[in-house]
Amino acid sequence: MAETADVVVVGGGVNGISIACALASRGVKRVVLLEQGALASGASGRSSALVRMHYTNETDARLAWASFPVFRDWVELMGGPPVFTHTGFVNVVSPPYADNLRRNVEMLRGIGVNTVALTPAELKALQPFANVDDVGAAAYEPDSGYANPAETVEGFRRRAVERGAQVRQWTAVTAIRRREGRVIGVDTAAGAIDAGAVVVAAGAWSVRLCREMGLRLPARPKAIDTVVVTRPPALRDPHMIFIDNVQGSYFRPESGILTLVGVPCQEWDIDPDTLGTGLPPQSATQGAQILTQRIPAMEQATLSRGYRAFDGYSEDRHAILGRVEGVDGLYLATAFSGSGFKISPAVGACMAELIVDGEAKTVDIGRFALRRFAEGKTADGPYPYAPRWDQVEPPAQGA
Ligand SMILES: Cc1cc2nc3c(=O)[nH]c(=O)nc-3n(C[C@H](O)[C@H](O)[C@H](O)COP(=O)(O)OP(=O)(O)OC[C@H]3O[C@@H](n4cnc5c(N)ncnc54)[C@H](O)[C@@H]3O)c2cc1C
Repeated sequence: MAETADVVVVGGGVNGISIACALASRGVKRVVLLEQGALASGASGRSSALVRMHYTNETDARLAWASFPVFRDWVELMGGPPVFTHTGFVNVVSPPYADNLRRNVEMLRGIGVNTVALTPAELKALQPFANVDDVGAAAYEPDSGYANPAETVEGFRRRAVERGAQVRQWTAVTAIRRREGRVIGVDTAAGAIDAGAVVVAAGAWSVRLCREMGLRLPARPKAIDTVVVTRPPALRDPHMIFIDNVQGSYFRPESGILTLVGVPCQEWDIDPDTLGTGLPPQSATQGAQILTQRIPAMEQATLSRGYRAFDGYSEDRHAILGRVEGVDGLYLATAFSGSGFKISPAVGACMAELIVDGEAKTVDIGRFALRRFAEGKTADGPYPYAPRWDQVEPPAQGA
């Protein structure tokens, strides 16, 4: 006889484990999370894990703002070692986007975020080693920082298990079963599990898993490249986190003397099962150019290492969250588009509220529903920045 669960969560990244934790915390008795490999073996384990609130759309900003205290007050709220490193954060844009940035800062302040818009001269006073010649404005968040991804996932796992959830690693879901318009469970190599609700939180694998059950997700897996350098002695003290919209990149300090930089990469439709971890040879040079453009003294930095990872990117670069209309009991928390770490605590809360109470209350996630694509809507905000060239989609293979 098949095992029975109330909710099966597919995927043990930061979002799947946060959802399992939130469901168990809301009293759902039989929560089973199934992870095909080790927890955090997908995007989450290699995430740069910036924890900031600056977004150009209000839903993401509210999810990040609702999540922020969980990272900051992790020891009190979640137990275990702290996961958050405070650094301060700036988001810089070129002059044509300065007005949009100021409007977005107003939107964020309206939500309650501690943030101000800076002129280039004010940014220079804050980070004297920065080149601000090509900067039109910067949004400053003094409280932001970054998290330790592995410790975050482990903390959610610990709390989920304490609250009664079962977390099974090395257990791939081979199929999501449905009958007459509703989900009835999943198949795994270790046997079937009957369940009235299934949450797909399978990161870059979600597209394939959903396709196999006849559901097309408007999302594609994309590679993400990261280079890590050792800062020169002149920059020994950690700098703030920069999201550099002028260059379409970001960088942050990492454990003392290292700096980690995101290198734009245009590798779409990768198979997450076969992706190696090596970087293309030009990535180190690109990373160095990005850093040196913003902080000239980084010219003396030395390459430490680099790695390739991936995430699922939706058509409008915002997550797909919520129920699937026409398939009762099927829920999606996926396609986080390179930005799903910092919002994971609120994603867990919202998905648990939706499944248990029928409505997400922590944040209204209606704009992130799958149906927006069929309705021709986007979750974008009204004041965007320059499009990132690495996020411009090539035609799908075979199209
Ligand atoms: C290099 C890099 C830097 C990033 N930087 C940031 C950042 O600074 N801030 C930020 O907010 N976000 C960032 N992101 C994005 C963020 O890390 C991801 O959006 C987030 O981790 C996605 O979490 P997830 O749980 O949805 O997916 P994943 O972590 O990919 O987890 C999905 C899991 O599902 C499992 N799985 C797949 N198929 C199955 C199956 N059939 N059965 C069972 N298990 C299955 C996989 O093994 C995997 O462990 C970054 C991502 C990368 C790669």
